[in-house]
Amino acid sequence: MSKKIILLLIGLTIISCKDTKKDDVTKKDSTPKITLHVLDGGKILVNNLELFSEDTTYHGQSKTFADAYYVIQHPKGNLMWDAGLPENLVGMPEPLTFPGGAFTVSRKDSVVNQLKAIGLTVDDFKYIALSHSHFDHIGHANTFKNATWLVQENEYDYFTNDSAQVKRADIYAMIKDLTNVQKLKGDYDVFGDSTVIIKSMPGHTIGHQVLYLNIGLEKPLLLTGDLYHFEENRSHKRSPTFNYDIPQTKKSMEAFEAFAKSTNADVIIQHSPKDFKRLKALLKSQKTTTK
Ligand SMILES: [Zn+2]
Repeated sequence: MSKKIILLLIGLTIISCKDTKKDDVTKKDSTPKITLHVLDGGKILVNNLELFSEDTTYHGQSKTFADAYYVIQHPKGNLMWDAGLPENLVGMPEPLTFPGGAFTVSRKDSVVNQLKAIGLTVDDFKYIALSHSHFDHIGHANTFKNATWLVQENEYDYFTNDSAQVKRADIYAMIKDLTNVQKLKGDYDVFGDSTVIIKSMPGHTIGHQVLYLNIGLEKPLLLTGDLYHFEENRSHKRSPTFNYDIPQTKKSMEAFEAFAKSTNADVIIQHSPKDFKRLKALLKSQKTTTK
């Protein structure tokens, strides 16, 4: 090989390196600064874990669930994802066991106090989105009555129609103040820049949804809602007996796994105490490295 060719090759390598660097910088600059907080919406002791599979796999077992909720601060507005357990649990001297005894629940603090600790108030929220309308995900929803509720149209209808207001009065009471409603039909890119995407994953409820976050962390995050409640149910694709539609749940699980794989997302199981701690640590380490 002549000296000329070698020099030319070296030159080309340098140019291509420069180009890559330039691309990286451009990418970083175009990513808006988005901050995620994971907050503690309470604790659930599942006394009868058998409810969480279609067979007797979990017979006689119990398990502790975390009950996380999430705050996403985006330059175009803030989003609250899920809303923890009911706030009337705050200050109770003992955890509360539901009639029937399947669940024992507790919550340490109110959303107002928890937001204060991260420098926010209820009025700072443009959007609230709930993975679904069960009691452990809508606890402080009414507090966000000035925000726009991003909800699947069928979920909205199912939980707010005239008969639901009577039949599921306790659930209705916890969401009835959310009157600014934006009804969705399927996936929704909340800020229009692909950073925060609500994904329709029905089955657990009629309009259950999960949240994809591509916010400049090492990997995108995928928050499960209640598609999975704990790790074993994810690996074995088990569905709770009380789901709205079990075959549809399984289809959503397939779609979820394919999406997680194609985006290389880090899956966060919202009720997993392990994932709660892991995400907290991840966000903390991110803060210290970007400072
Ligand atoms: Zn739940």
